Amino acid sequence: MSDSWMVFLGTSAGVPSKLRGLPSILLQYRGKYLLLDAGEGTQIALSRYGIGSSKIDAILITHLHGDHIFGLPGLIQSMGMSSRKKPLLIISPNGLRDFLEASFKTTDFIPQFDVEIREPERTAIGDYIEIVPFKTCHTSLPSYGYLVLGKTPSGDLRFSLAYTGDTKPCESYVDAIKGSEVLIHDSTFSEELRNEAWSFGHSTSKDAALIAREIGAKVLFLFHISNRYNDDLSLLEREARRFFSEAYAAIDGMKFYL
Ligand SMILES: [Zn+2]
Ligand SMILES: [Zn+2]
Repeated sequence: MSDSWMVFLGTSAGVPSKLRGLPSILLQYRGKYLLLDAGEGTQIALSRYGIGSSKIDAILITHLHGDHIFGLPGLIQSMGMSSRKKPLLIISPNGLRDFLEASFKTTDFIPQFDVEIREPERTAIGDYIEIVPFKTCHTSLPSYGYLVLGKTPSGDLRFSLAYTGDTKPCESYVDAIKGSEVLIHDSTFSEELRNEAWSFGHSTSKDAALIAREIGAKVLFLFHISNRYNDDLSLLEREARRFFSEAYAAIDGMKFYL
C-alpha cells in the first residue's frame, strides 16, 4: 500500500449539506499531515475518518472566505485540549492572524503550543514535502492555490498535487501548476451556469477539465461543488469527461493514494 494519500474531508461550496461538509482536504506523506483549507466541521470530519487533530503539522489556507476558515478556531482549540505541544504552521494570505486572535481573545483561549502564521511562500514541511503557492483569480480578497510536491529520500519527485481553492479559470496559474499529476480544481457549477460561476470568481466542471488537459494532469477531482448537484454528480463528471477523461467529482470521505 502506498505511503502517501489524501482524503476529502469536505467538498461543498459555500453551504454544507447532509452529504457534504465545507472545503477541507487532508494529505499524508511520510508521517507529515497537511490540511488544505479548514471549513466549518473539519474537526468532526477528521474524527469521522479516525484521524486525531494532534497529528496535523501544517494548514494551508487558500483565502479568507468563511467557508474555508471557520473550522480553524474550533480545530485549534481541540488541539489545545488534547495537550498538544508540537508547533502548528499555518500558511495563509494576510489577515488570518486578526481573525484567530479575535476569536481566541473573545473565547478566552490561549493555545499552549506555538501557532506560526506565514504568508504564502515556498516552504518545506519536514524533509520530503515542499509547498509552492500560486496566485488564483477569485474575488477582491487575495487568493492562492498550493502545489504540494512529495520528494523521495533520494530527492526524486514522488508526487505532485495542485489544489486551486476557489478560482475562475485564468492563465496566471496555469504555468505554476503545469505538469502536476493530481489536480483538485474549483468546480462550483456546470457549464450552463458559467456566467454565474465566473461572476462570483468560480469555475465550471468544463473549465476545470480544460485546465487539467492543458497542464497534462493524470487525474482531476472536481471540488467545491454546489449543493444543487447533490442528486446528480454524474452531470458534472459527464461534462468534464468530454474534455478530460480522468475526471471525478470529489465526495466527502473519498480517499486517494498518491
Ligand atoms: Zn469557497
Ligand atoms: Zn471563496
